[in-house]
Amino acid sequence: MPRIRFGPAGKPLSFKGPMEKVPEYLSKIGLDALEYEAVRGVRISEEKARKLGEEAAKYDVLLSMHAPYYINLASKEKEKAEASRRRLFEAVRASHWMNAYAVVFHPGYYKGWSSRSDAVKEVIRQLKLLEEDVDSHGYTGPWIAPETTGKDSQVGSVDDVIEICSNIERCRPAVDWAHLHARSQGREILSIDDVIRVIDKIEKELGSYAVKPLHTHFSKIEYGKGGEKMHHTLKEEEYGPDWIVVCKAYIMTGIDGVIISESPILEEDALYMIELCREVLEDGSFMAKAPSPKVTISPGKSAGRQGKR
Ligand SMILES: [Zn+2]
Repeated sequence: MPRIRFGPAGKPLSFKGPMEKVPEYLSKIGLDALEYEAVRGVRISEEKARKLGEEAAKYDVLLSMHAPYYINLASKEKEKAEASRRRLFEAVRASHWMNAYAVVFHPGYYKGWSSRSDAVKEVIRQLKLLEEDVDSHGYTGPWIAPETTGKDSQVGSVDDVIEICSNIERCRPAVDWAHLHARSQGREILSIDDVIRVIDKIEKELGSYAVKPLHTHFSKIEYGKGGEKMHHTLKEEEYGPDWIVVCKAYIMTGIDGVIISESPILEEDALYMIELCREVLEDGSFMAKAPSPKVTISPGKSAGRQGKR
């Protein structure tokens, strides 16, 4: 039975206590995933990371981590590439401590390379070095998860991410649907077919592990010429993509999902996404097309409307 988990990117805005108490809070409000944000550097101690991991296991909250933004594995400057690898290594190590299943990161930039594929090859070369380092330390639990990025100058098209993961053993894609929408100047992720095409491509080229679950970021997004500008909430109708389109594609393909809300109102929109998916599931005409009508969305919790503030 497919399962879709939902959670915020970072500490819920409505929660004021310590990080290690977040899983308990999430389970209370009806969420079951959490992306720990180390976007400005991995600063958590081993002790705190392990405590967070224990709490997450206790409350059935699946942890992932977002690695620092300052990573460019395609840098032509040796020092920058090494520092990038170091930051990613630290994220993998902390993820190992907290038993986070995946470390999401932005691979880098095409700048300085004569072709996009050369930049991607360099990212792969750097990740192979990282893998050796990670293996030698035994931090082999977490998947590394290159993310589809929101700017045209960044490594991170669907093809880039698939290419990277085909060459790296413990690698799974992180699909940010808002980024793909922004990267394409709003031309993609408009229809259920757009979403299914991406899911099918990932599954076909990498194997079913990559969509069981598919690690996902979602929010609405504003874009300009170069791509992403800023994330927006689900209720801002002037922006895309449409969450219902994405949710329907997940249900129709029967994949598992981990959906991390990167909306400015984090957990509130994560709960709203559940509510919208539930409405989709209750739509009879749609269910007839779904190969697997039994989808668990944050099981045992009655989030939905009560989460609307
Ligand atoms: Zn990201």
